Amino acid sequence: MTVRAPFDQVCRYLGCRGEVEPALAGRIRALTHQVEEAAQPRTASRIFPLSFPGGDRLALGPLAVESAALRKNLAGCEEVILFAATLGVGVDRLIARANAGRVSDAAVYQAAGAALIEEVCDQAWEDLRRAGEAEGWHLRPRFSPGYGDFPLSCQRELLTLLRAPETIGLTAGESMLLLPTKSVTAVMGRSRLALPCHRTGCEACGKTDCAFRR
Ligand code: SF4
Repeated sequence: MTVRAPFDQVCRYLGCRGEVEPALAGRIRALTHQVEEAAQPRTASRIFPLSFPGGDRLALGPLAVESAALRKNLAGCEEVILFAATLGVGVDRLIARANAGRVSDAAVYQAAGAALIEEVCDQAWEDLRRAGEAEGWHLRPRFSPGYGDFPLSCQRELLTLLRAPETIGLTAGESMLLLPTKSVTAVMGRSRLALPCHRTGCEACGKTDCAFRR
């Protein structure tokens, strides 16, 4: 998977405002390139039937979840894709080395890693959307454990169902922090209802009157 971290997104994660002066922009681009070289993006996904047993409870295949926010996001869906993505350990090592030396470089590595994993997820969403489209499915934006009241504690079972530790080297620690750190877990609803969903999610979508907006 060839993925690049968009410069404007790296700057956004760094908190830069306005025009970035040329010397700094050059440094950010060079460090971002190192992150792209160190990254080994990998994703895992699996489709499960979705049901709504009552109240705010949901059954994502064998994964039982109670969340009002997720129930709203998945309303009208019949299936759900469990999803995980990681940049791999190489980016964490790059950040750790910089933290022991040039801390300002570590901040850029962090920002570039954050922008890159978002890009990996957006591209994977687009691939999954296209694959389902041929069979008449419409894909909802991804929704991650920890958003709203979707419990972070679901993360480990989600990873187990994806066999993520074995297939993409992704695990969750005691506090549910993902390892490698530049990683994402999420669910994506599949619906027969046609909605003009935006790949970067409801926040970036212009359909402000949508009943399924989170
Ligand atoms: S607000 Fe946009 S992205 Fe979110 S569910 Fe509605 S159509 Fe899809």
